[in-house]
Amino acid sequence: MAVVTGSTSGIGLGIACKLAAGGADLVINGPGDTSANEALCREIAKVYGVRVAFGAADLSNTDEANKLIGYSTDAMGRVDILVNNAGMQPADSAHISAAQQWDATIAVNLTAVWLTIRAVLPQMLERGWGRIINVAPMCRADAENKSAAQASKYGVIGLTKDVALDLVGRGVTCNVICPGWVPSPHVKTISSDAKPPNGRRPKARRRTAVGELQLSYELKAPDHLGSLAAFFCSDAAAQVNGVALPVDGGWFR
Ligand code: NAD
Repeated sequence: MAVVTGSTSGIGLGIACKLAAGGADLVINGPGDTSANEALCREIAKVYGVRVAFGAADLSNTDEANKLIGYSTDAMGRVDILVNNAGMQPADSAHISAAQQWDATIAVNLTAVWLTIRAVLPQMLERGWGRIINVAPMCRADAENKSAAQASKYGVIGLTKDVALDLVGRGVTCNVICPGWVPSPHVKTISSDAKPPNGRRPKARRRTAVGELQLSYELKAPDHLGSLAAFFCSDAAAQVNGVALPVDGGWFR
């Protein structure tokens, strides 16, 4: 049974569907508790023949992040796979950002990752099997004006390494998938952002960033990353632990 955070769209939805295709029951998550999310659960359940529930946690809220694993365990009986995919990357820069935006970004991108890992580990360790997969980009040449997002995502890579070392030999692994550009609602927002805070990057340059930086010139679909998540859950990956794996077609760093 798998919990995938931020899975009502984009990469998270692609990962959730691939895990469901492999037979995993799911708790999908996003902010809000809308009928659209319930309809999405019914659709995934119908297509893949698995049980699907919606965990309505706003991960910027510590209480809600704390409760997501408990809710999922109550709904499905257990949690074997945790995918921390939810994320936000507001445009900001270290010297002009508002503290409120910094706190919200750190809360969703980093603190919620720690809280869900902390909540799920006891049951995984008790059963001697578990897979934790985090999603965080590597620090990149195109990542200016994202101080909170960069700081938090690098925190995720450090946290992953620490958790992985702690888990050695106990049947539970913790790894990071580091996507390059993946077509998702989030990327559409970035590419249509004509006015970054310091004005140094014109819109046209943003639009060509994929070709300039992701050297394969290929955008992989969210379900491609889902296949990688499924690999991390397979027996073949039982000894893959503490890895931050770039999936970016050969990035120009
Ligand atoms: P997306 O905007 O489609 O997905 C982000 C998800 O996080 C959404 O489902 C959103 O609802 C969820 N989310 C945001 N705030 C939340 C909150 N407070 N509580 C619960 N859920 C929340 O974007 P995406 O591109 O699919 O991004 C998924 C992950 O991949 C993010 O962590 C992002 O940083 C990372 N990433 C994406 C790319 C890319 O090119 N798309 C590249 C590198 C890393």
